[in-house]
Amino acid sequence: MKRAIFPGSFDPITLGHYDIIKRGISLFDELIIAIGVNTDKKYMFSLEERIKFVSEAFNDESSISVVSYQGLTVDFAKEMDAEFILRGLRNPADFEFEKAIAHTNRRLSDIETVFLLTSSGKSYISSSIVRDVIKNGGDYSLLVPDSVKV
Ligand code: ADP
Repeated sequence: MKRAIFPGSFDPITLGHYDIIKRGISLFDELIIAIGVNTDKKYMFSLEERIKFVSEAFNDESSISVVSYQGLTVDFAKEMDAEFILRGLRNPADFEFEKAIAHTNRRLSDIETVFLLTSSGKSYISSSIVRDVIKNGGDYSLLVPDSVKV
């Protein structure tokens, strides 16, 4: 049984996340979408909204579950009995950032980080761009799954 967590803020979930999750389903028996709660971070959407947007987007996927977590991602992965952390890579900046985190996580645990490259056409999408579009009244629906409603 291969179980992975896909950790992130999902503030809100975007078509970039959606793409990585859909492709992750074929790699793992179970994929747990782990929505981080960081008390130092200010979110646009509440935890309940972030969970709802993600859960509704994957209603009919039985191998996917959605949970929230606090603290170290590797500790949470161990708690969930997951051997893998799934992350998406958009560009060289993501790679440098993710490399340092993956090396650190590997020092702290046996958990392997698995990276998927973003699909072409999705690499420009980020939650922060979506939040900007929303704040300025733009058509955010082009960038997020249908479950995201403001
Ligand atoms: P974090 O706060 O941990 O960066 P995010 O919700 O922004 O959380 O991202 C979670 C994961 O999704 C990260 O691995 C990130 O690289 C990946 N991701 C975000 N947007 C995209 C995208 N457009 N294509 C591929 N992966 C993405």
